[in-house]
Amino acid sequence: MFLVDDLGWQDTSVPFSSEETPLNRRYRTPNMKRMAADGMRFTQAYACCVCTPTRVSLMTGLNAARHRVTNWTLRNGTHSVNDEGKHPMLEFPQWNFNGLTQTPGEKYTVYATALPELLHQAGYRTIHVGKAHFGALDTSGADPLNLGFDINIAGHAAGAPASYLGTEAFGNLHKSKKKPWAVPGLEKYHGQEIFLTEALTREANLAVDQAVEARQPFFLYMAHYAVHTPLNTDARFIQPYLDAGLDRREAMYAAMIEGVDQSLGDIMKNVERHGLTSNTVILFMSDNGGLSAVARGGEPHTHNRPLASGKGSAYEGGIRVPMLVKWPGVTAPASTCDTPVIIEDFFATILEIAGAAGLASRDVDGKSFVPLLTGNNKVADKEEGSSEDRPLFWHYPNWWGPNGPGIGPSSTIRKGDWKLIYFHLDQHYELYNLAEDLSEKNNQAQERPTLTNELANVLGDYLRDVQAQMPSIKATGKQVPWPGEDYLE
Ligand code: CA
Repeated sequence: MFLVDDLGWQDTSVPFSSEETPLNRRYRTPNMKRMAADGMRFTQAYACCVCTPTRVSLMTGLNAARHRVTNWTLRNGTHSVNDEGKHPMLEFPQWNFNGLTQTPGEKYTVYATALPELLHQAGYRTIHVGKAHFGALDTSGADPLNLGFDINIAGHAAGAPASYLGTEAFGNLHKSKKKPWAVPGLEKYHGQEIFLTEALTREANLAVDQAVEARQPFFLYMAHYAVHTPLNTDARFIQPYLDAGLDRREAMYAAMIEGVDQSLGDIMKNVERHGLTSNTVILFMSDNGGLSAVARGGEPHTHNRPLASGKGSAYEGGIRVPMLVKWPGVTAPASTCDTPVIIEDFFATILEIAGAAGLASRDVDGKSFVPLLTGNNKVADKEEGSSEDRPLFWHYPNWWGPNGPGIGPSSTIRKGDWKLIYFHLDQHYELYNLAEDLSEKNNQAQERPTLTNELANVLGDYLRDVQAQMPSIKATGKQVPWPGEDYLE
C-alpha cells in the first residue's frame, strides 16, 4: 500500500479526469504512468478531507462518522488541536481526538482491530514506513507497533515532519521548538544530503529484502510524509521546475511529488529484483485533496482547478484523489474504473486480496472493490440487494483552521452523479451534479427541493444510525439539526 500525503487529484502526470489537464503536464510522475499502464486507474476515488480520519478509515474499514476520529490528531486529551474551542458560533463535539487504539479503555479513542493486526494474524510481515498519524501523543495508537505492525520505521503521533532534510536531521536539531514533529529513527541519515522520501524508500526496500530473505509474505505500508508541508527543496528534482518558470514554492512542491514517484519506481524495481512482480499487488492512494488554502505559491483555493477548493474542503478538491491498483493477472493493463470508491473500502479489499477476509470479526462500512479490479463491476457500485447506486458519506463536525470555499463543519452524501453538502454553520444545502458540473459551480438545491430533501434524509438517517456527533450552536446550546431534520420543501 503506497499512500501519499496531501497529493491532489491532478498532481501527477497520469490524468484521472477524461483528458489530460495543464497540471498533469506540469508534474512528472513516470513511475505512476508505468503503474497505470500495467493496472487500473480509478477516476472517482475519495478520501476524507484531512489526514487522520482517512488513515483510521483505511485501518478499520469504518466511515469517519462511525469511528469519530473526524479531525486530525496530535495533542492528548484535548480537542483543541485547531483552536476548535475558540470558534465564535459553534461548540464542537468531544470527538475521538486521541485516535485509533487496540488497547481497551483509552479515553477518546476508537477501539478496533486494525488492518495490519489482521494481516499479521494471516501470516504477513507487516511493515510500517513513514507517517503514521493514527493516535495522539502519549497514546498507545501513536506507535504503529501497537496496531499490529511488526516493524515501524519513522512513524509516530505527528502528521508532518519538522524537516525533510537529512542535513537538518529531519528536525531533530531543533529539539525545543519542533519536538512533536521531529521524525523518529533514521539516525544513520542524520547529517547526510538526503531527502526524507529517499531515506524512507531505502529503509522500506531493506525491510522488504529481510522479509524475502525470511521467505515471509509481506504487507508494506509505505506512507510517505511527502507531499505534506513543510515544502523543502529536493535538490535531485527541483531545477527543471524552476527553469519552467514555477515560483520557488510551487517548484519545491513539484519536486517533492517527483521524489515520491521515484520512490514508487524504486520500490517496484526492488520487488522485480526479487522476482516477485507477478505475485505483488500495489495500491496507490492519497489521503486527502491537494493543499490550497495556505503555504502554496500562487492564489489560494485555485491549485486543484477545475476542482473547487482543496484540502479541508467538502468540495471535490478536498476529497477526490489519485488512485491506482496494479494486480498482475487480475487488473487489465491500462484499464480505467469510473465507479466511485472511498477510503474505507481499502480495508475490506486488502483483506480479501490477502485471503484474510474471514479474520475481520465485525461489520465495516467499506466494501471490497475486488469485483471492480476483476472487471465484474456489477456488484460493488450498487447497494446490497438493490439496483440503487451506493451512497457514499463524509462527516466533518470539526474545525480545520484555515478558511476557504467549502472548508468548515459539514456532512456530505454522494449518490450516483449527485452530491449534497450540508453546512453545519448556517444549515444550508448545496446540490451538484458532478457529471455535468465537476467544478461545483451550479448549486441546484433551490431548484430541486425533492431531490435535496431525499438526499438530506438518507444522509441524516445514516448519521443517526452510526451515532455520528454533531456540533452545537453556542448562542442556543442546541445541537445543529441533523441533515433533513429542518428541511422545509
Ligand atoms: Ca493529508
